Amino acid sequence: MTVKVSHTAEVQNLFKEASGLNNEQGSPRLKQLTLRIISDLAKIIEDLEVSDDEFWTAVDYFNRLGGRNEAGLLVAGLGLEHFLDLLQDAKDAQIGLSGGTPRTIEGPLYVAGAPLAEGQVRMDDGSEDGVATVMFLEGVVRDTDGQPVSGAVVDLWHANTLGNYSYFDKSQSDYNLRRRIVTDAEGRYRARSIVPSGYGCSPDGPTQECLDQLGRHGQRPAHIHFFISAPGHRHLTTQINLAGEQYLWDDFAYATRDGLIGDIQFIENAAAARDRGIDGSRFATLEFNFELQKAPAPVAEQRSARPRALQQV
Ligand code: FE
Repeated sequence: MTVKVSHTAEVQNLFKEASGLNNEQGSPRLKQLTLRIISDLAKIIEDLEVSDDEFWTAVDYFNRLGGRNEAGLLVAGLGLEHFLDLLQDAKDAQIGLSGGTPRTIEGPLYVAGAPLAEGQVRMDDGSEDGVATVMFLEGVVRDTDGQPVSGAVVDLWHANTLGNYSYFDKSQSDYNLRRRIVTDAEGRYRARSIVPSGYGCSPDGPTQECLDQLGRHGQRPAHIHFFISAPGHRHLTTQINLAGEQYLWDDFAYATRDGLIGDIQFIENAAAARDRGIDGSRFATLEFNFELQKAPAPVAEQRSARPRALQQV
């Protein structure tokens, strides 16, 4: 049996040196991760007989992926972001943390610092009036004992009728379809917005290029993203995916989960529309309540420190 080159002492020593394990500077944690990643990559290259052409195609792919800012999209499409949720669920189960609204992926399109509002807030800038269906979205944030949580911050964001997000789509106004709503004394949040559209990866982007090679589509059902936070409660990152959507259970990013389906109702009623202050006769309502776990420690009140976009207004 031939000895695998990637297993030899010479190569292992090379990778230890390359990972900085022969010096005292830098980050021990990054050294540990780097050694594991390059050692495992070398084994993959050898075991699967990765050709030079395949290797350099992959290197070029990563350059193009970064150039299009799509690394966050690819990790969602490959199921890795959903895996992080499954991993956290398993850790929670192990220590007996359960209950509350399920978590699901954040995705790469959050922008920090959306306008903060109390009471009913309008989220859209009116630029799709007459095109979009007006959506009245509301619900209550409770704790796992069923008690309303007042003063919770419901930080939500969604796409427009073209499936595009403000900030990333420069044709939209600042913070269009992004708000932070503080729940009232009854724990309620209320928004007037527009029904979002589902969307797909850019057809000419590197993520879709990879999915094409995997024989997969890059589509998502229409959905609304949420961060929900309140003192004493565990931060929740989740999404409502809208019932009736073609890709509801065929989401390329694997974000749809039981307990996170939004039962959107489309209503045709001119009088009811007028009562709600909108033109025409068609609108939609969506009620969705959230349940937050108690924070086992103050750090659990915070979202992850993932780098995020921050709009300069
Ligand atoms: Fe999204």
